[in-house]
Amino acid sequence: MDKNECSLVQNLLNDYINDSVYDDAKDVIKKHLKTCNDCNSMYLQMKSDNDIRKKQEVRKNKDYLKKFNNKLSLLKKIIIVLLIIILIIFMPFVIKLIHNNYVLDSAYNKLQSMGKMNEYYAKTETILLDNRADDFTSSCSITEYYYKDGKYKIVFYGKDDYENRYEVYGQEGSDIETYVYYDSKIIDNRENDELFVSQQGQVLEKIYYNISQWDKMQFKLLDLFGTYETKIYNGRECYVIRKNSSDPKSLDYNECWIDKETKMNVRNVMNTQNESVEQYSDTKIYIEDRDILDDDVELPNNLENFDVKNSVVAANIN
Ligand SMILES: [Zn+2]
Repeated sequence: MDKNECSLVQNLLNDYINDSVYDDAKDVIKKHLKTCNDCNSMYLQMKSDNDIRKKQEVRKNKDYLKKFNNKLSLLKKIIIVLLIIILIIFMPFVIKLIHNNYVLDSAYNKLQSMGKMNEYYAKTETILLDNRADDFTSSCSITEYYYKDGKYKIVFYGKDDYENRYEVYGQEGSDIETYVYYDSKIIDNRENDELFVSQQGQVLEKIYYNISQWDKMQFKLLDLFGTYETKIYNGRECYVIRKNSSDPKSLDYNECWIDKETKMNVRNVMNTQNESVEQYSDTKIYIEDRDILDDDVELPNNLENFDVKNSVVAANIN
């Protein structure tokens, strides 16, 4: 065999195995390998080495892919676990928010439907404990509301001090409210450049001020950190929606008690506590759909010895 041809073929064997020689050369090599044992055995050895190397490479790639997939599924598991943890942590807040919104919505809707009543009597009784700079005072104030066909009377007095009450007479669509002060014997016709009560139902919003306000605020994030529970009040089950101060160090809170069955706001409790003020107020609300006399909502005519004045108040006091 031609030694020159052998060395030429042997130099090209690697390329031949990797199929990177020209077709002409391929034919020559093929023919040579059939006839030359030396070169053929070298070829077979090289080819087998090459196959082994390729197999190892494939296995290495497979291993790498497997490791990568393992890491990916671990990451997925971690993310799922984290999501579940987040869900578990926030679930009570979400449930609370939905519950509180439902209760406040029901109470507000109840208020709206009650606003259509033509005659009613309502009463609120507030106990106030006030302690500032070691000067403790307590009081119990009562407010009574009479409403009939667009006319209203609101009576303010301290418990056991009805003689010194004052009364407010008004009418829907009127910009004058008449204040009658029984202690100083003064009748004050207060004029406002806006209507005091422009539509039916607004007197109720004075009584249920808390509900009217809370309804507007109910989507504030603050509600997430409020609490709710069910407590018995006057023998009836009530939702107690409690809003704590946004300051975690503060002991301030505001509670709205809503009768579970009637959806009526029956009690409001407020606590303010800081370095200068300790104040606690507890208001009970009572309303009755009952017949009201004309005399209950009209200015009495036995006020001859009262002084009359006409004052003008700024609009938008609220
Ligand atoms: Zn050869």
